[in-house]
Amino acid sequence: MNADQPVAIIGAGIAGLTAALSFARKGIPAEIFEQTSVLSEAGAGLQLSPNATRILTKLGLLPQLESVWSEPQAINLVSGTSLRTIASVPSGEFARERWASPYGVLHRADLQKTLLDAVAANPLCRLHLGAEINDASQHVIAGMIGSEPRLVVGADGVWSKVRKRIEGAGKAIFSGSIAWRFTLGEAEAPAFFGTTKVTAFLGNGSHLVVYPLQRAQFQRGGDYQRCRSRRFIEPHPAPGDKPAAVA
Ligand SMILES: Cc1cc2nc3c(=O)[nH]c(=O)nc-3n(C[C@H](O)[C@H](O)[C@H](O)COP(=O)(O)OP(=O)(O)OC[C@H]3O[C@@H](n4cnc5c(N)ncnc54)[C@H](O)[C@@H]3O)c2cc1C
Repeated sequence: MNADQPVAIIGAGIAGLTAALSFARKGIPAEIFEQTSVLSEAGAGLQLSPNATRILTKLGLLPQLESVWSEPQAINLVSGTSLRTIASVPSGEFARERWASPYGVLHRADLQKTLLDAVAANPLCRLHLGAEINDASQHVIAGMIGSEPRLVVGADGVWSKVRKRIEGAGKAIFSGSIAWRFTLGEAEAPAFFGTTKVTAFLGNGSHLVVYPLQRAQFQRGGDYQRCRSRRFIEPHPAPGDKPAAVA
């Protein structure tokens, strides 16, 4: 194996882009194949916990992320019916001290753009857009890049085709749970969502997670909030709970 022999990464999602930058940090070139021809600003809010931000810091991306994320003061678990706070974990400065790395929330598109910009600026990373890989064998990829990759990384998501090549690898099975993601302007969001904390509203077999986002470019005017919901329907009230207009 020579030092210039690249790794091939299938998929330019969060995992694929991060893997490429991690290999490049060790001096290993990465060829990334992404089926879509444009990486659009898809998604809504997501959280980066300290174990993730530690890696992103090592990749030199913390300053860029700090300019687009917010660091909530707390993560609260709240009853989806009475809005009673069940538990609260401090975050913000506490997270930085306790886990030696920050906890931030941001729009997925901001994270992807940060990673994409870093990949584009890194001479060891090469991104091939509009490149769907149906056969991830080393010789097929060698035909595309001119040399055999030292390793093929499947970062092609939950329905990975690359995974199917691995003997004994498990199969993704649809659990029946569905996540809906959307953003709301601050003016449209109910006051109890708050702007300084992440809140998980718990229902019966469902929950709604609200992230306050810093940047407003996805929404006209003001800040917006992001909700992720897993079948947040007909939550069954706990004794004494009054239904609230959450769903
Ligand atoms: C469009 C989108 C929006 C999302 N929005 C949110 C959100 O708002 N909040 C949240 O918490 N999570 C969101 N997620 C999920 C979150 O990003 C992922 O669960 C997590 O980051 C894992 O990412 P991944 O890189 O492993 O896989 P994915 O993010 O699924 O990325 C896989 C990539 O591989 C590409 N690909 C797949 N098959 C092939 C192939 N055969 N050849 C080449 N390329 C291929 C796909 O086009 C995709 O770009 C979203 C995911 C996607 C795809």
